[in-house]
Amino acid sequence: MNQEKVIVLDFGGQYNQLVARRVRECSVYCEIYSYRIDIEQIKAMNPKGIILTGGPNSCYQEDSPTYGKELFELGIPVLGLCYGAQLMMHILGGNVKCAPVREYGKTEVFVNPKTQLFEDITPKTVCWMSHNDYIESVAPGFEITAHTADCPVAAAENEKNKLYAIQFHPEVLHTEEGTKMIFNFVRKICGCSGSWRMDSFVEDSIRSIRDKVGDGKVLCALSGGVDSSVAAVLLSKAVGNQLTCVFVDHGLLRKNEGDEVEAVFGVNGAYELNFIRVNAQERFYQKLKGITEPEEKRKMIGEEFIRVFEEEAKKIGAVDFLVQGTIYPDVVESGLGGESAVIKSHHNVGGLPDCVDFKEIVEPLRNLFKDEVRKAGLELGIPEHLVFRQPFPGPGLGIRIIGEVTAEKVRIVQDADAIYREEIVNVGLDKSIGQYFAALTNMRSVGVMGDERTYDYAVALRAVNTVDFMTAEAAEVPFAVLQKVMGRIINEVNGVNRVVYDLTSKPPGTIEFE
Ligand code: GLN
Repeated sequence: MNQEKVIVLDFGGQYNQLVARRVRECSVYCEIYSYRIDIEQIKAMNPKGIILTGGPNSCYQEDSPTYGKELFELGIPVLGLCYGAQLMMHILGGNVKCAPVREYGKTEVFVNPKTQLFEDITPKTVCWMSHNDYIESVAPGFEITAHTADCPVAAAENEKNKLYAIQFHPEVLHTEEGTKMIFNFVRKICGCSGSWRMDSFVEDSIRSIRDKVGDGKVLCALSGGVDSSVAAVLLSKAVGNQLTCVFVDHGLLRKNEGDEVEAVFGVNGAYELNFIRVNAQERFYQKLKGITEPEEKRKMIGEEFIRVFEEEAKKIGAVDFLVQGTIYPDVVESGLGGESAVIKSHHNVGGLPDCVDFKEIVEPLRNLFKDEVRKAGLELGIPEHLVFRQPFPGPGLGIRIIGEVTAEKVRIVQDADAIYREEIVNVGLDKSIGQYFAALTNMRSVGVMGDERTYDYAVALRAVNTVDFMTAEAAEVPFAVLQKVMGRIINEVNGVNRVVYDLTSKPPGTIEFE
């Protein structure tokens, strides 16, 4: 596939993925590499443009990440952001120093809109700054194209050699016209045609999956989540009945979810594939008996899941390929792209490969961000309720039930959660709240219903606003909505006589309630 692409060289900046996402929003394919990548590798990829990210170091210090001067002599346009901008100046003969005043946060920047990079940008525009060092003087051949009250060089360029330096962060949404600047760089300066679209991704993937798989047998563990659903449909479109999907219903899914997955992928569904649903509910409840510690529950559910999957895989026999719903942030965060520290081990792998007899892994979504996976899903005609599904933990309701898990408690939390979700959708808040669900506290307390004493469970409602799921705040669900949900849960769900709303933010809490 001879895809037009821009590469991001990561110097340890915290926004490396954001840079790549913004580029892709301009319909240009983009990949992240560590700054340690060899110049020959860059040449071989023949990118249309190169972007250098920010980073925590000071470029004038020894041992700081750097690159050879030849990077700027390839004839490929280069855009340096923050550390990347300072480094470009430092390498090419400018001067970078520790600033008397550090700039942090939203800052007014005066740009020269006559330049190509700032074409159609307001001359006085708000940008996000985060730096201690500053460019005191630009390298020979460069012209200053932006400044702030405190920073003489907020941007500079050498138009002839197509080298551009920006001190602020256009990739951060606080930079109001940042995406436009990145568009100007990748589409106008680098001349990318903007052909990266999900329909072409879908077509290209189907073709390359066919090439790779041939007439081989393929196995996929389907969870009903967005990533594995999209991966399964792509494979089904590419190789049809050569694909077998195993869906383990561990009895800890949301209300009706198992049937919904079966309706989409099973015999009456829209896709050509072999679908096996394993109803392992009882087996999981049995295993979970007496376990109350959340980590222990997670481990138990994970291990049992693998065991069930393994048994099914054995019935199928050896396969040639195993499908994994790995997506690009998994790749970057497991230290394979860019400079990010290993944040987590490959969570999609989860120990699955070892228990199956297969030759090779297929990861059709490996290069996509989550929103792109969703777009590909819509492109493939997957129902919206699957494509826009909320994040749901692998161990499912098992961890949204405090204390021991029983079939009875699962029923209670499923019913309460379904009512809550229905009412949130009814008032149109489902699109704006990051994540919301009901959990079952292990607390029972006294109530009175129909003149009779009750001693039943308390359900907790959780709703958070979050952009990146790293931090979160309790969402302000209107009181009237909460009251309605409370009323319905008490009336309709047997075993509940109290409903509470969880106000905790993350940190100190987590988004889940376990
Ligand atoms: N470490 C450099 C500085 O403090 C660059 C910071 C950045 O890239 N955000 O100026």
